[in-house]
Amino acid sequence: MDFKFIPGALESLASLASLPVKVFIVTNQSAIYRGLLTAGDLEHIHGMMEFEIVSIGGRIDGLKYCPHMPRDKCKCRKPSSLLFEELAREHAIDLDRSINIGDSMRDMEAGIKAGMKNILVRTGQGKLAETELVHQNIKVDYVVDNLKEAVEIVSKIVNEEKRGCGNSLEDCQ
Ligand SMILES: [Zn+2]
Repeated sequence: MDFKFIPGALESLASLASLPVKVFIVTNQSAIYRGLLTAGDLEHIHGMMEFEIVSIGGRIDGLKYCPHMPRDKCKCRKPSSLLFEELAREHAIDLDRSINIGDSMRDMEAGIKAGMKNILVRTGQGKLAETELVHQNIKVDYVVDNLKEAVEIVSKIVNEEKRGCGNSLEDCQ
């Protein structure tokens, strides 16, 4: 049982923590139902993950995961936006002022359904997802090479909101 951060990801999470935003993780973890992990193992991994993030100056304000398999047809697995909506309700957050960062089609579809701004990162499955999005004519707000660039965009959006530029990014350019 082990996990690794993509190189640079931990540092990016730390810089995200310096912004006036809440940081959440929403993840599909069907490894549990496939018998590869127990719920306890996963909690343990999440604990270690959070420990590493906090050690470097980052923070996680909340985490939700779907433990089911696609065939379970549950309501929480991404591309469902349910877990985003639950987090938004529990933390009194506007999803239309929230930013979703992910590297898969499912991530992007969930964020679009939730009415968030969406940033696709070309790490992991991201390159594949980029092609697929074009094929299906699904538009995301930004496509970037890594989490660092995604955090830079978040920072830009936050600063523009602070200057009162409104919801449209073009207003401030
Ligand atoms: Zn589920």
